[in-house]
Amino acid sequence: MNRVFNFSAGPSMLPLPVLEKAASELVCYGESGMSVMEMSHRSPDYEAIIKDAEVMLRRLMNIPDNYKVLFLQGGASTQFAAVPLNLINRTGKADYVVSGQFSGKAFKEAQKMGYDVKCIATTKDDNFDHVPTVTRDMIRPDASYLHICFNNTIYGTKYSYIPDTGDIPLVADLSSCIISEPIDVSKFGVIYAGAQKNMAPAGMTLVIVREDLLNYADEKMPTMLEWKTMAENDSMYNTPPCYTIYMAKLVYEWILGLGGLDVMKEMNQKKANLLYDYLDSQDYYIAPVKKDSRSMMNVTFVTGNADLDKKFASEAGKAGLKNLKGHRSVGGMRASIYNAMPYEGVEALIAFMKEFAANNPKA
Ligand SMILES: *Cc1c(COP(=O)(O)O)cnc(C)c1O
Repeated sequence: MNRVFNFSAGPSMLPLPVLEKAASELVCYGESGMSVMEMSHRSPDYEAIIKDAEVMLRRLMNIPDNYKVLFLQGGASTQFAAVPLNLINRTGKADYVVSGQFSGKAFKEAQKMGYDVKCIATTKDDNFDHVPTVTRDMIRPDASYLHICFNNTIYGTKYSYIPDTGDIPLVADLSSCIISEPIDVSKFGVIYAGAQKNMAPAGMTLVIVREDLLNYADEKMPTMLEWKTMAENDSMYNTPPCYTIYMAKLVYEWILGLGGLDVMKEMNQKKANLLYDYLDSQDYYIAPVKKDSRSMMNVTFVTGNADLDKKFASEAGKAGLKNLKGHRSVGGMRASIYNAMPYEGVEALIAFMKEFAANNPKA
């Protein structure tokens, strides 16, 4: 076995103990005589799996009792439409912050549906090198909700604070930072996240929604997008993404075994600090993100020369450091260092960066 350090932004690395546990149960789960992939989602064995997944996630994130946990399909992108469809009837309008590509897509999706949506802040003119400062007075007092993307996967930025929205529900896309550190769920009306960044393989979308927000759905909306229907049916209105939920459960179990999200944060902070400290200590590589907006999960950097950037990603790949090429829309490099990336992976990356800088002087 020759596993590489995989810096992919998503789908991304999974913890080795999780993969090994899944492998050991792949063909035959417990006494069931079949794989989890082959089980009826209504069978007692599977009911226990999905229940355990929810119980573990609630413990991990300290989710208050008045929030529902939904395991859905369609990716985070489907929630770009589901959010307005479920919430806009509160007041008929909604506000958005555009801090990168995904929040821009979320905003456009709501706009496309013909709703009264307003972008109240954006850092587009600064190439999204930081997240906007959002204060309560910027939000329309009669907005149904404020939507933000908490960690901007492509640009490597993150909110260092949770915007205070007063009574207006805060809706946040946490796809690339979910379960990377403790977060106060009670500050949010809705949290959603695609699984494939930091939680499980692709195929499952997590939605955590405060119960009082389940009552605004448009009657004509597609049933599959209606959180209330999914909540009333314990995410089993139709067949859920069974195997991905099982994998998520193994990931939750792994983190709980390590000591929970406090420990996870400590480990993630240590990795991110190592990399940012190196970036700050030299001038061959440039880290474009403003310091107060730096992401702990996605670290972006450039050499300032597109050809060198290309060579970097290609040579790093040959050295067993995979998927360091930045997003196709921004170029440069991006190291995604999610929960499953070991500290040694970041050490190996920095050693490679030093070697590359020494071997490729800039003209
Ligand atoms: C990857 C990502 C998405 C898109 O997720 P899909 O599951 O592919 O739809 C949305 N938002 C953020 C922040 C992401 O990182």
